[in-house]
Amino acid sequence: MNKEPLEEKEILEELASLKAKDFEYSTGRILGSMCTKADPLAKKVFCDFLDANLGDPGLFKGTQYLEEEVIKDIGSFLSIDSPFGNIVTGGTEANLMAMRAARNTAKKNKKIESPEIIVPKSAHFSFEKASDILGLKLIEADLDGNYKLSINSLKENITNNTIAIVGVAGTTELGVIDPIEELSEIAIENDLYLHVDAAFGGFSIPFLNNIGYKLPQFDFRLPGVSSITVDPHKMGLAPIPSGCIIFREKKYLDIMSVEAPYLTSKEQSTIVGTRLGAPAAATWAVMKYIGSEGYETLANECMINTSFLADALHKEDFEVVVNPELNIVAFNHPKIPTDELANILEEEGWMVSTSNYPKAIRIVIMGHISHIHLVDFLSTLRKIKSNLNI
Ligand SMILES: *Cc1c(COP(=O)(O)O)cnc(C)c1O
Repeated sequence: MNKEPLEEKEILEELASLKAKDFEYSTGRILGSMCTKADPLAKKVFCDFLDANLGDPGLFKGTQYLEEEVIKDIGSFLSIDSPFGNIVTGGTEANLMAMRAARNTAKKNKKIESPEIIVPKSAHFSFEKASDILGLKLIEADLDGNYKLSINSLKENITNNTIAIVGVAGTTELGVIDPIEELSEIAIENDLYLHVDAAFGGFSIPFLNNIGYKLPQFDFRLPGVSSITVDPHKMGLAPIPSGCIIFREKKYLDIMSVEAPYLTSKEQSTIVGTRLGAPAAATWAVMKYIGSEGYETLANECMINTSFLADALHKEDFEVVVNPELNIVAFNHPKIPTDELANILEEEGWMVSTSNYPKAIRIVIMGHISHIHLVDFLSTLRKIKSNLNI
């Protein structure tokens, strides 16, 4: 570390030269990210609220109000009038809170000593972390032919130690929606906690359905659903870090609250202590600025680009793994190994990602990717094929 303080100019210059090494969303070449470019308004608000601490809410009543308003607004499109929850750092922390609430509830009410949770094989790796941290046994249920949770496999895995079941509304790898309606019934029949991970899909499914898409139900309208994760920093266009956990009832926050002796609030249910207020304020501002109409337009445009890409890939003899339900396209070429194709694409300047199950090139069509970028991408794919004499 430097001993003498440096000049601001020198510091900013070094930062600028390092930032220049980062990829930029606006180039349209980041094809594998669920995050996207931050809105200029979000940047401004984020900076304005940089020192607001939601861990000490009595000092920041205005910011606390903004967090409550965001929870209510998100709750309104997840079909719940009185939601309880928090703006957290992302889907990982939201899922951790949900599993902690489920575990503590089961410990208290059912005296379960070796708790197990059942998630689909497609679940995000954050459940592995949550299980490790919370001492839960993680059980992965199989998927059906469309890579959705198999209800039969889930049922077979329920035991006396099961404390929670999880469904995903918009899987991370393929963007498919698990049969949450059936999960809700199973949760009620078996008196189990049901958590829905809609980190990716939560900010698009409701808006797509508003404008005539017929995507399956996944929200609090289903009586068995106890909590939902939604990530404003994905399709919600909020700046990182903005995740959201919403519980149907306050008792789930209470069951994991601890005393907070030296702070203005008496109790704390969140994992994090000192807690950024800036994401709550910036998320509030972005949601006001975009409105439900804006989210409908965004989600629809992403879906139109998704269909365009999936159709075009098909015509170019690529195999699209599953018909896209949300804005993710996963594909392979029968004659090019997936990792090889991913490497060549990266050499050509396209930052794609690969899915694990099934192995495929995975493209997340976020708002920073436009039709023109996709046309360009397809011409790179044609070039690669011809270079390989395919
Ligand atoms: C992205 C994602 C997560 C993790 O969210 P982070 O914000 O990266 O912590 C969890 N679940 C699903 C379904 C996701 O797509």
